[in-house]
Amino acid sequence: MIPKYNDEDLLALSGIQHFAYCPRQWALIHIEKQWSENLRTVEGRQLHERVDNPDFFEARGGILTTRSVPLSSYVLGFYGVADVVEFYAIEEKGVTLNGREGQWCPLPVEYKRGRPKKDIIDEVQLCAQAVCLEEMLCTTIEHGYLFYGETKHRTKVMFCEELRQQVLKFSEQMHSLFDKQITPKASATNKNCKSCSLVGICLPKVGTKQANVNGYIKKYLGQEKS
Ligand code: SF4
Repeated sequence: MIPKYNDEDLLALSGIQHFAYCPRQWALIHIEKQWSENLRTVEGRQLHERVDNPDFFEARGGILTTRSVPLSSYVLGFYGVADVVEFYAIEEKGVTLNGREGQWCPLPVEYKRGRPKKDIIDEVQLCAQAVCLEEMLCTTIEHGYLFYGETKHRTKVMFCEELRQQVLKFSEQMHSLFDKQITPKASATNKNCKSCSLVGICLPKVGTKQANVNGYIKKYLGQEKS
């Protein structure tokens, strides 16, 4: 794919998980710089802090493990950090590494709180990391792993064409909104609102058919009993 972004255009790769969850949440965090923590975000951050170690390197059983690996892609227009990248010794069509003989296949591993989900939010983030590694290392990566803190198991994620196209589509939408500095409106039917860490900032029911602004102000100024 043809690179179409420059250094100054790059957006945080981690934002794609917010965008996949809700484009408005992504815009509130990455355009408007709003952030609010809840139990989920604190647990997620603590899990990442446990694996965040840029000096970590381990070689065991034909696998090289590195942590906190810097990433970038000028095709997606993203920069970020992979929790873990594992390099597996392979016979051919791999990448070469300084100070190591042979060919190596890089696989991204992302740590997540909780357990595997029904949506593709975690998959698109992992796939975006793989696209970065492919671009940086001039290789092709067929799969990666999501490690879930609650189940303490890895889930294998195949980077199929459909998932890659979804990542590309999200990245284009993110850049378009960011360039125009547009925060999408809340959707009254978004099922993610009830567990969203930004619900208190977003106020998704205000301005929708579910509640008008006057009703909201009266309620929260105590002029109307809830
Ligand atoms: S409260 Fe709902 S609409 Fe608002 S950012 Fe969160 S998920 Fe999106």
